[in-house]
Amino acid sequence: MNASSTPRIAIIGYGSQGRAHALNLRDSGFDVRIGLRPGGPTEHKARADGFAVATPAEAVREADIVAVLTPDMVQPQLYGEVIEPNIRHGACLLFAHGFNVHYGQIVPREDLDVVLVAPKGPGALVRREYEIGRGVPAVYAVHQDRSGRAEQLALTYCAGIGGARQNAIRTSFREETETDLFGEQAVLCGGAARLVQAGWETLVAAGYQPEVAYYECLHELKLIVDLFYEGGITRMHEFISETAQYGALTRGDYVIDDHARAQMQRILAEIQDGTFAREWIAEYASGNARYRALKQADLAHPIEATGKQLRAHMAWLGSGAPAAPAAPSAAPAAAPQTEAA
Ligand code: NAD
Ligand code: MG
Repeated sequence: MNASSTPRIAIIGYGSQGRAHALNLRDSGFDVRIGLRPGGPTEHKARADGFAVATPAEAVREADIVAVLTPDMVQPQLYGEVIEPNIRHGACLLFAHGFNVHYGQIVPREDLDVVLVAPKGPGALVRREYEIGRGVPAVYAVHQDRSGRAEQLALTYCAGIGGARQNAIRTSFREETETDLFGEQAVLCGGAARLVQAGWETLVAAGYQPEVAYYECLHELKLIVDLFYEGGITRMHEFISETAQYGALTRGDYVIDDHARAQMQRILAEIQDGTFAREWIAEYASGNARYRALKQADLAHPIEATGKQLRAHMAWLGSGAPAAPAAPSAAPAAAPQTEAA
């Protein structure tokens, strides 16, 4: 690629992030091709969206930028067997999460530029926000700069997916990996889901109607989070009653007490010292039995049945709409031998 031409981009994987990046980059004028195993579960989707689909090896060979958007746990093998033997000298290897590079699961070839462009949101929103002229915030990082243009390539890609419509922040692979894991474990996915479940269980165990408890502990959370999103905690205080404010200010600390804060430190320590990464890699390698059982327990939690009934009356919640995307990168339940949708 010379400095003035548009980079040819290969997207490997067409799941949550892969599809969103591919569609946005194409609409931004890039030459995009998709690399997928023939007969894989998302191949027809990529073709239906009008993309040229090649095998990962073919797509990699022709690209200036190779975006690795398969599940994190399959990336090391994919890199070793398909990407490294085929990627052209001096090309750019791009990740959407720093996990494998940061924890040493992938050691990229010396001649490559290695960058990270991580949208801070699920793929469905990366696409939807782009379509309506907005963007999901993104962070970017450079791990290896052999061309002298690695940062520029990351920013070009970031702009192409709509992530530069927001303030794209430069980070490092380490910071992105550790903060991303912490966010999804302590606050966004683990913390928020457990907070909702525990609140609902408390009310139902005390004899309140499950449906009323659902509205209080789950449904209304979105309305509050929308206020956070628009104007921070300040905005929430502008909209809720004085009674709600006083209760929140005096009782919130009952829940997020010193013990909860110590547990957050523990989560962070396990991320920083590699304990979490080693555990997850070993779980995946041994067939995901524990992961599957834990996930099944979440899906079978009674709040799910209550919510399903109530949401059937909410005509605006179309099935499969991007308003209800998969959770950030922790979501798909893929066994090593199978793969996520
Ligand atoms: P996903 O599970 O939604 O999609 C994976 C895709 O890879 C599918 O098209 C699947 O068919 C394909 N695939 C699986 N194994 C393959 C193989 N061996 N060879 C070729 N293709 C294969 O994945 P995702 O959630 O979009 O995650 C992709 C990357 O993006 C990860 O690094 C993740 O951490 C990161 N990320 C995800 C999100 C998110 O919201 N899901 C957010 C930020 C970053
Ligand atoms: Mg994440």
